[in-house]
Amino acid sequence: MKGFLHSIETMGLLDGPGTRTVFFLQGCPLRCAYCHNPDAIARAGGEKITPARVLEIAARYRSYYGEEGGITFSGGEPLLQGEFVHKSLELLKKEGYNTCVDTSGFGNPKYFPRILPLVDTLILDVKAFTSQSFEDLTTIAGFERYLSFLTSLDNYGFRGQVWARHVMVPGYTDNDQSMRELVGILKPIGQRIDRIEILPYHTSGVQKYRQIGLPYRLEGVEPMDKDRAKELEIGANRMFAESLHQERKKAQEKNQDKLRILKDREVVSKAEQAEMFSALRKLPLLSDVDVDDVDNVLAEVILSNIKAGDYIFRTGDSPDFMYLIYHGQMKIFFNTIDGEEQIFYIYRDGDFVGGLNLLVNLPYRYVGQALTDCKVVAIPKSTFDTYFYDSPVVLRSVLTKSFERIHWAEDLIQRLATSNASMKTAGLLLKLAARIGVRTEDGGIRLELSMNREELGNYSGLRRETITRKLGQFKELGYIELVGNKVIIIKDLEALEGYVL
Ligand code: SF4
Repeated sequence: MKGFLHSIETMGLLDGPGTRTVFFLQGCPLRCAYCHNPDAIARAGGEKITPARVLEIAARYRSYYGEEGGITFSGGEPLLQGEFVHKSLELLKKEGYNTCVDTSGFGNPKYFPRILPLVDTLILDVKAFTSQSFEDLTTIAGFERYLSFLTSLDNYGFRGQVWARHVMVPGYTDNDQSMRELVGILKPIGQRIDRIEILPYHTSGVQKYRQIGLPYRLEGVEPMDKDRAKELEIGANRMFAESLHQERKKAQEKNQDKLRILKDREVVSKAEQAEMFSALRKLPLLSDVDVDDVDNVLAEVILSNIKAGDYIFRTGDSPDFMYLIYHGQMKIFFNTIDGEEQIFYIYRDGDFVGGLNLLVNLPYRYVGQALTDCKVVAIPKSTFDTYFYDSPVVLRSVLTKSFERIHWAEDLIQRLATSNASMKTAGLLLKLAARIGVRTEDGGIRLELSMNREELGNYSGLRRETITRKLGQFKELGYIELVGNKVIIIKDLEALEGYVL
């Protein structure tokens, strides 16, 4: 495994925090009008280098890095050499190096989830703020792709900080309106932005174009005035701080609303509270909490009555609470691109949701809605962080739940992609049998459903009419018995299993 290297700067002070060794990689899919490294654009060429060699070079300069410094991959476009960058970062991270990648977000997306969790600082080049200006500047119609990279950083597992960089060319973006647009683009990753840097355009690369016989598209454009660029940089950072402040305020208000709703529905009967607390004390969840602290935990949790149909959380909600279903059923779903509801999971007594969100501080990506009247224990983030964050029991439970969810999602994808309606219906019945089935005296399995036919369809990827028809057929075949709308008795489990084998 080898990468194509353009050059190395051993004591770089500009490309990431502290003192760094910067590996400029060869190759870039963009053609920025101001690019001062046109010789780095072709992918082939340059020196070949292995990840092991990168590590060797890093080790040689390690003593200069201090607390903050480390290794930067720049270019060209380093993400274009996804495998090489991934392998190099893996080696560097194993040895504890601080890492930085300077990118415009163009490369093979397959490597993004492997690379980005290993990056401490991402220098994100913001080329332009509209589709047209992006294309004019880079010659590539890639603005949507760029925005998708930017907004997917969290999903790719990036947990570091972002330095946003914009090269300012006079007559193009040297105005307040452009700075507002720049701030707007960065909003979705607001929490990750450490700074916005404006790099004044300069003409020192023009000579290179002449040498290699390439036309220079900004011929005649004067260098950007440094003081004006600084002024606009300060303005952009101020604007950004203000927008972040507003966002936080909104999030806090939303938080307060959520808290108020939970409090409004709080279980008030003392006897009921005592009964719930006594049940909670016996939960494994509390087993790692110091005995002296258990009362504090119970004093901080909110016991709420949630009515069937009420929302417990929605997509995009910040992770403020972990929820334990004390009694009842909750559906977790998301709306597909064509507006259909896809039920992902049904939670019931003893299940909890949101632990992973609190652990990794990620907003909810799905909706939680009560299917039946529920009693829910809401554990605030502050309580979670104080008493549960390091608990092996809680971590194990969160992992198990996450694994179950991944397994269910994989299963769902498989079913949706490869099954016909009979298979999907049989698969759904088997899933429900394992989850909520109760053996009857005559050997059947009774399913007490909290979902109507439409929701059953949404759970299995079928339309309401189709699932109704399929259940009718299974009934005709003697595999199941339908008792009203809410009870199904499975009479021939083997026959249903035959559909999904
Ligand atoms: S992204 Fe960087 S290397 Fe690529 S063309 Fe633009 S300025 Fe040059």
